[in-house]
Amino acid sequence: MSPRPDALARLAAHTAERAKAGLRRRLRAFDHMDGPWLERDGRTLLSFCGNDYLGLAQHPQLIAALKRTADDEGVGSGSAHLIAGHRAEHAALEEALAEWTGRERALLFSTGYMANLGVMQALLAEGDVCVQDKLNHACLLDGAKLSGAELKRYPHADVEGAARQLQSRPGACALLATDGVFSMDGDVAPLRELSALCAREGATFMVDDAHGLGVLGPEGAGSVAAAELSQHDVPVLMATLGKALGCFGAFVAGRASLIEGLVQSARTFVYTTAMPPAMAAATLAAVRVAREDAWRRDKLQSLIRRFRDGAGQLGLPLMPSDTAIQPLLIGDANHAVMAAEALESVGFLVGAIRPPTVPQGKARLRITLSAMHEDDQVDALLEALSGLPWATEV
Ligand SMILES: *Cc1c(COP(=O)(O)O)cnc(C)c1O
Repeated sequence: MSPRPDALARLAAHTAERAKAGLRRRLRAFDHMDGPWLERDGRTLLSFCGNDYLGLAQHPQLIAALKRTADDEGVGSGSAHLIAGHRAEHAALEEALAEWTGRERALLFSTGYMANLGVMQALLAEGDVCVQDKLNHACLLDGAKLSGAELKRYPHADVEGAARQLQSRPGACALLATDGVFSMDGDVAPLRELSALCAREGATFMVDDAHGLGVLGPEGAGSVAAAELSQHDVPVLMATLGKALGCFGAFVAGRASLIEGLVQSARTFVYTTAMPPAMAAATLAAVRVAREDAWRRDKLQSLIRRFRDGAGQLGLPLMPSDTAIQPLLIGDANHAVMAAEALESVGFLVGAIRPPTVPQGKARLRITLSAMHEDDQVDALLEALSGLPWATEV
């Protein structure tokens, strides 16, 4: 009998391979954050890579709510929601999220990753089919795999392709899931068309609005609200609290029957510790600010236009996005890393996104804008981008 393969040695070999291919991911700690400014090793960098789209992560009202609740309730929730971890703060936040998104009920999850795993595992089983956009977030794809359903992907934003995938499994229980705003591309899914398709095909429609909530739609209610789709049209709505809301965690919203079903069956809800109540209180404050401060969305939109106009004039490889996510397509992974390093050397922090996060040959700079940026900061970034060799060649 040949000896067993060693799991640790195999992992080490895989890591070495990634490094050799120039795809090593590096974990580095920042010392301090102040609005869009990040400090590391005594250097201050202007960040264009965060997801704090409305600039709420350091908002005084959120911080005050967090402190106040921590003073009264302490830090950890102490147990799972179904035991004794569910507090008045969680219930109030769930109610506010349901009201904001126009759904009957909402249910908190510890992270967006867990929400998607939990929803899919609760809704789907072996023999079912889960139809997804090729560019969906990794956790939607993982959720489908975990559920045991057959995962069928369609070309990006291709409604006909989605229809073909659904029709290839007539009679099977089907869930169609899409990002609302695509996390690495910034474009918005054809939500109305996909919703109509699901209605025609008898499939359940699920939207992950991690990057739309707070940013798009009336009062920032998200991409689904912007598309004027109701709870009936999009029965499963998931969104995260760690992006535009500047906090942490996620929720699923929909009919009371969906939420009750998740309480019974979503393993990533049942078998995990409830989010700290102080975090729920801070998030409730974030929901209020996000709804009320329309100026944050207006300012963000104006920065997006400024960036796109400027980048267009410079001939930079913009992608078709009107959201806070403004990638510049580079192609080669090493070139993307070199461009990000060149930007960092002149004081800008921009993410270099490489395979497997994006498809082969589609490496990019992922530039994200936030209401906390100023016009002159966007201009300075454009100036730095115009100085990159790849930019002038395009
Ligand atoms: C960030 C993200 C998630 C994961 O949410 P976390 O709360 O960070 O785990 C899920 N879906 C999409 C589209 C995301 O961008």
